[in-house]
Amino acid sequence: MMRCPNCNSKDIGKIGSHQFYCWSCFIELTVNGDKMSVYQVEEDGTLSSLDDLFFEEPIPPQVHVN
Ligand SMILES: [Zn+2]
Repeated sequence: MMRCPNCNSKDIGKIGSHQFYCWSCFIELTVNGDKMSVYQVEEDGTLSSLDDLFFEEPIPPQVHVN
């Protein structure tokens, strides 16, 4: 059973073949193979990545997509 990387809750619901939702802190988790991404669902329904908060990966220096 997976745990939420944000709140460590096991209250994770599956919302897609590779998508999960934490009912405890309301973030969306996407699993791609052995890579997990974390997104916060904004009020308007868009997703904003929280990966930089949880996973240390080199981030390309120019990613500012608005
Ligand atoms: Zn959580």
